[in-house]
Amino acid sequence: MVPFTLTTPPDAVPNADGPTYLAGGTTLADLMKLNVLQPDRVAHLRGFQSTAIEEIDGELWVGAGCTMAALADHPIVRARLPAVRHALILAASPQIRNMATVGGNLLQRTRCPYYRHTEFRCNKREPGSGCDAQEEGADRSLMAVLGTSERCIANYPGDFAVAFAALGGTIETAHPDGNRSISATDLHRLPEDTPHIETVLRPGELISQLVLPLSPAAANGWYCKVRERSSYAFALASAAVGLELDGDRVTSCHIALGGVGTKPWRSPEAEAVLTGQQATDERIEAASEAALADANPPKGTEYKVTLAKRTLAFALKRLRDEGPPDDATLLALQHGREFG
Ligand SMILES: Cc1cc2nc3c(=O)[nH]c(=O)nc-3n(C[C@H](O)[C@H](O)[C@H](O)COP(=O)(O)OP(=O)(O)OC[C@H]3O[C@@H](n4cnc5c(N)ncnc54)[C@H](O)[C@@H]3O)c2cc1C
Repeated sequence: MVPFTLTTPPDAVPNADGPTYLAGGTTLADLMKLNVLQPDRVAHLRGFQSTAIEEIDGELWVGAGCTMAALADHPIVRARLPAVRHALILAASPQIRNMATVGGNLLQRTRCPYYRHTEFRCNKREPGSGCDAQEEGADRSLMAVLGTSERCIANYPGDFAVAFAALGGTIETAHPDGNRSISATDLHRLPEDTPHIETVLRPGELISQLVLPLSPAAANGWYCKVRERSSYAFALASAAVGLELDGDRVTSCHIALGGVGTKPWRSPEAEAVLTGQQATDERIEAASEAALADANPPKGTEYKVTLAKRTLAFALKRLRDEGPPDDATLLALQHGREFG
């Protein structure tokens, strides 16, 4: 790790000349130890950021410093945002969830091994250096199939951001040049020619609040995560879904995929196939096809296209038939006890 200066706010935070912000540190400290990130100034946000969770006018306002564990346990999240609770409790480990903040969670970095190990060439870590993940013989099994570019095929690894995008979340930011709201779907950028620029945030821009609409479709949702082992692993494919139903007819729906995109992947295409229609098996399968229609799997990741379609179709059918799983059912499902 290279030497750095550590400060604690409120000395000039937010600051356009930007120290790097440290929240729970569970991404940042890791990447500094690996020399992937080498900030010279780090500002510790603990005690400075809001951790409050409040319902205001039909929305849940969450301070960016709230931990993953605290948000997952909040009574409103338990009762009215099941996909958010599931995405949080299926992520990482209890220790990490007690330390990590929801603001930092949105900004976690890819787990692409070619990004995390400095002996490889990576356009995201070192712009213009090349992408060893796309060389002959590379292990691409965990890469993205949606939103990739010639420069980068790394996937976005997080769970919570997928539910947050599906449910139409927004973030509130603070910056000396002006505060603003950014929708969850606009926060992360596609890699295109500049994979090192991962979000639309300006240097020094601080996420202050996360805002989640509390809608009937959000209350009838869940987050289904498929991974190589049944705990403490990132998603190979996941689906955050929410449905408002009038009988069998879908009056509104939310769909996003995780584990397969270069960013949290909301699918307006899949939502359009279902909205206003009967939620038949055929239509759900058509929605799953639509969600993956633009997939461009790098060699070695083809399996993810099928996996993601099946994960999404399974999540939607189960939600239609049985509603959101309670915690015990969720964990049984995730551990494979109800499959098959
Ligand atoms: C072993 C392991 C397993 C994991 N498994 C999963 C998993 O299964 N699913 C999953 O979703 N995640 C997983 N994670 C990732 C974990 O959830 C994130 O590391 C964590 O949520 C990041 O939050 P943090 O507060 O620690 O962020 P930090 O590490 O402090 O910060 C992360 C980034 O966000 C920036 N930042 C932080 N707060 C703000 C703010 N308010 N405004 C602007 N920028 C900010 C920092 O500068 C940094 O760039 C895992 C992590 C580990 C180490």
